[in-house]
Amino acid sequence: MKIAILSRNASLYSTRRILEAARERGHEARVVDVLRCYMNITSHAPSIHYKGESLTGFDAVIPRIGASVTFYGTAVLRQFEMMNVYPLNESVAITRSRDKLRSLQLLSRKGIGLPVTGFAHAPDDVQDLIKMVGGAPLVIKLLEGTQGIGVVLAETAQAAESVIEAFMGLQVNILVQEYIKESRGTDIRCFVIGDKVVAAMKRQGKEGEFRSNLHRGGTANLIRITPEERSTAVRAARVLGLNVAGVDILRSNHGPLVMEVNSSPGLEGIEAATTKDIAGMIIDFLVKDAIAGKTRTRGK
Ligand code: ADP
Ligand code: GLU
Repeated sequence: MKIAILSRNASLYSTRRILEAARERGHEARVVDVLRCYMNITSHAPSIHYKGESLTGFDAVIPRIGASVTFYGTAVLRQFEMMNVYPLNESVAITRSRDKLRSLQLLSRKGIGLPVTGFAHAPDDVQDLIKMVGGAPLVIKLLEGTQGIGVVLAETAQAAESVIEAFMGLQVNILVQEYIKESRGTDIRCFVIGDKVVAAMKRQGKEGEFRSNLHRGGTANLIRITPEERSTAVRAARVLGLNVAGVDILRSNHGPLVMEVNSSPGLEGIEAATTKDIAGMIIDFLVKDAIAGKTRTRGK
């Protein structure tokens, strides 16, 4: 197969591993910098140009699109889809997953367990919003945040009110969420490929930190997950339409709660924690699943 890996940087661990896994299996693979792709939007003749050449003949494309390039990245991916190139994850599914609020709404519609979450625009509604999610302590999140930045734990209703008002004053979108105390600074990253969780790790925040992000100094360990956690993760990925996803789950007293679904899940932490060849599994899935024109949405 001829495979394009859409990534900003060929030296990133995940990009390197996927390239390596594809080549080991005898495929022709190359990394394409998504921001250097340019497109000719012509009726019935979609094409993509790259540093002066026309990109043609690809069977599949693996999007590794960072949050900061979602807009342009999904446009390039859509163009590949219109050219009948099979995407590992579709542009529409990536767009859904990048919008935290939209994802939570889609997941709630299908009855997936979620922390009680509220969203409001006007400062006048803050007190009622806090009550609605069960009062303090609660978690306040910037909708545009990643890697745990912009996630705040407010211990009291007064603290919550001031933080929410401050964020609203800055004109940024936030959501307010019940704090799942019993997860004690840990979460579970389930790596989903197709209809299986192929690997899972428990992430633990550093001492005194409720956020378990590896970028915030957390550590990762192998963990056995329950059948309920397994099916929750697989269903969450399916609801958003992602073939490959990192589903982050909190263990609560009333079962697994999905926190977020990541459409370009990193490989470094999970391969190290589990010693599994996740990159190889991604390529094996792609080879089985890639059929030209099979894309469900084709960017629609
Ligand atoms: P980001 O997308 O920036 O990583 P998350 O929503 O995943 O933000 O939150 C970062 C971390 O904070 C999570 O990994 C988890 O450890 C912790 N956390 C987030 N929401 C809650 C919550 N409602 N209850 C308890 N801990 C939470
Ligand atoms: N981009 C990383 C991932 O999806 C974030 C990991 C983290 O900060 O915990 O795996």
